[in-house]
Amino acid sequence: MKYNVIHRGDDISIQLMHRFHELIRQYGLIHEEASPDIVLSIGGDGTLLHAFHQYKDQLDHIAFTGIHTGRLGFYADWKPDEVELLAQLMGESANQNDLRAVKYPLVEIQITTPQGIETELALNEFTLKGVDATLVAQLHINDELLETFRGDGICISTPSGSTAYNKSLGGAIVHPSLDAIQIAEIASINNRVFRTLGSPILLPKHHHCDIYPRANQNILLSLDHLYMQRNDIISIRSLVAAGKKVKFARFRPFPFWSRVREAFIGYDMV
Ligand code: NAP
Ligand code: MN
Repeated sequence: MKYNVIHRGDDISIQLMHRFHELIRQYGLIHEEASPDIVLSIGGDGTLLHAFHQYKDQLDHIAFTGIHTGRLGFYADWKPDEVELLAQLMGESANQNDLRAVKYPLVEIQITTPQGIETELALNEFTLKGVDATLVAQLHINDELLETFRGDGICISTPSGSTAYNKSLGGAIVHPSLDAIQIAEIASINNRVFRTLGSPILLPKHHHCDIYPRANQNILLSLDHLYMQRNDIISIRSLVAAGKKVKFARFRPFPFWSRVREAFIGYDMV
């Protein structure tokens, strides 16, 4: 079995990486960057987002796991002082060929431009904002107009991303066993011309949402930590990615709601 480590670049994360390499050697795992079976991220949830985008073309055979060197993460849910235990559990399950994993849904976006259609994936969310003015866009659900949006932007998140940007927007926290995406408004303007629903909504799989920005707008598009400015967008379709999920190695149970409690409420249970 092959593994790679992605770290945040700070001294503590780099030290932990060296320690992990040392510990995992005795189990016969091979360090390989090109096509690993397990990717360990050391840093924060942001570090795992980097790891995800580095390997998003190999999601079918990679399981991710993470150690947090800052506050408890949602993706990075191992503590630095558990590195020995993590290496042991990973080593043993690799040798027994029994790598348990949970699979979480992703958001797929299809960007239509005059040049064609580009497809992208997000682990947390995709957002659309205006660059030099408020965003004006029509929002369609399953090919029917829902509303004309005017405001800062629109955020479309995955269940595992629901605890990130989406939560700051008043979105619901969604359990990652639900195949859904959530649409949340970012500061919509409501008046007689522009009227939006105002509440976050969840779309099940097989439903889709199309956003048509008004023509000639500079648009800021984000996918997780990646940002790009575009002026060639005709429309963007969002949906639950079909047949593509991200796998997280589960070497011990650490239920989603326990992570929610520990990250946001604060009782330390593990
Ligand atoms: P960042 O600005 O350093 O991260 C923002 C915070 O979000 C960090 O504390 C990060 O944790 C945390 N985070 C990331 N994914 C999370 C998740 N699934 N659940 C709970 N918290 C999560 O930027 P970054 O580290 O590159 O992360 C990019 C993410 O920042 C975006 O995907 C977006 O969700 C989030 N963001 C949030 C806001 C907001 O809440 N107003 C605005 C823009 C972006 P770590 O410290 O462990 O990395
Ligand atoms: Mn971060």
